Amino acid sequence: MKWILFFGALIGPSICGRGKFFGDQVFRINVRNGDEISKLNELVKSDNLKLNIWKSSCSLGHPVDVLVPAVSLQPVEFFLKSQGLDYSVTIEDLQALLDKEDEEMQYNQEQERSSNNFNYGAYHSLEAIYQEMDSIAGDFPHLASRVKIGHSFEDRPMYVLKFSTGKGSQRPAIWLNAGIHSREWISQATAMWTARKIVSDYGKDPAITSILKKMDIFLLPVANPDGYVHTHTENRLWRKTRSLHPGSPCIGVDPNRNWNASFAGRGASGNPCSEVYHGPHANSEVEVKSVVDFIQKHGNFKCFIDLHSYSQLLMYPYAYTAKEAPDADELDEVARRAAKALASLSGTQYRVGSTATTVYQASGSSVDWAYDNGIKYAFTFELRDTGHYGFLLPADQIIPTAEETWLGLKTIMEHVRDHLY
Ligand SMILES: [Zn+2]
Repeated sequence: MKWILFFGALIGPSICGRGKFFGDQVFRINVRNGDEISKLNELVKSDNLKLNIWKSSCSLGHPVDVLVPAVSLQPVEFFLKSQGLDYSVTIEDLQALLDKEDEEMQYNQEQERSSNNFNYGAYHSLEAIYQEMDSIAGDFPHLASRVKIGHSFEDRPMYVLKFSTGKGSQRPAIWLNAGIHSREWISQATAMWTARKIVSDYGKDPAITSILKKMDIFLLPVANPDGYVHTHTENRLWRKTRSLHPGSPCIGVDPNRNWNASFAGRGASGNPCSEVYHGPHANSEVEVKSVVDFIQKHGNFKCFIDLHSYSQLLMYPYAYTAKEAPDADELDEVARRAAKALASLSGTQYRVGSTATTVYQASGSSVDWAYDNGIKYAFTFELRDTGHYGFLLPADQIIPTAEETWLGLKTIMEHVRDHLY
C-alpha cells in the first residue's frame, strides 16, 4: 500500500489531528478467578497509569482489553508479571493503525471529490454523512426523508432517516441507533450502508418490502455527533458526549449510561472523569433527551436496536440486572436466529444473551430504557471484531460487516413484522 502513503503525502497536511498515540499498546488480560479480577481492578483504578478500558468483562473466561500509554508500559508489565496475570499484546503499534486509517481517509476524500460518489466502504466525517443522508432522501423522495430530531450539546443537528411507504405518523415503527459511543466507527458506517440498502432493496427484496408495507423505520446513524467530530479532530478514541460539568475539568457523559433505566445503578460511575460517567441526572445529555422525546411523542415504536462495537455480541435486556426479562425466551430465540443468519454469510460468530449475563451489568442503557417503556424487541449489537483491531477496524471490513449485520437485522425486523402487538 505504499502508493497510498505516497499519495497521502502529496495532498497536504493530515485531515486529522486525532491525538498522538506513539508507543501505546493494547493489552489483553485473561482473568481466571476472583482473585485475579481484584488484582486487575487494582491496576485499572490507579489514575497515574492512565489506562483506558476498551473492553471489559465481569465473567471469567472473557478477556479484558486495555489501552496502555507508552509511559505506563513498564509499570503495567511489571505488575502483570509479578502478580502472575496472563496477558498478551493485541495491538503493538496503535499509532501505525491510526496513521493508516488517516491515509486511507484522505485518499478516499480525494476520490470522492473527483467522482462525486459516497464510498460506503470508507469512513467519513459528520458533514459527509449528513450530506449523504440528504442524497438518499433526494434520490428516493417517496420512501426516505431526513428529519431533524434535535441538536447536540455543541449545537450540531441530529438527523434521522425516516423510511416510510404509508401515510400518518402512527404506523408501528423500528428505531435503529448507531454511534452513541463515538469511537465505534464501524457502527456509524454500518448504519449508512444499511440506509442505502433499504432504499435500493425496497421493491426488489420481498423481506424489506413487506417490512416497510407494515412499518416505518427510523435510522439515527450518528447518535453522538459532538463525540464523532471529536474523534476526527482531537482524539480518535473518544467515547462520551462533549458536555461540560461545572466544578470538574473532565468533559462528557457516557450517553449509554444516561437513560432513565435504573439510572446511576451498577456499572456506571458518578465521577465525571470516568469513561462510564452517568451524568448529573437521567436524560441530562441533550442527545439522549432528543431521542427519548421523539420516541415518546411518536408513541408506536415496537423495536429498538442499538449498534455498537466491538466484540461480536447480540444482546437483549436487561443490562442493569441479571434478573431475566419477562420476554427473555422470545428475545433469546430471535437473537439466536439473527446471529445464525449473520454467520451464514462469512462465518462471523456472535455470542447471544442478556447484556448483564453476557458482558457486564450496566445501568442507564438505551435498550433497557426502550424495553422498560414498552418496546419489546430491544437489542444491542456489538459489531466486529473480537479485538484484533478493536475500535480501529480497517475500512475494508465495513462492507463485509454491514452485509452480514443486515441479515441479522432483517431476521429481527421480520419477526417484529409478524408479531406486532
Ligand atoms: Zn458502545
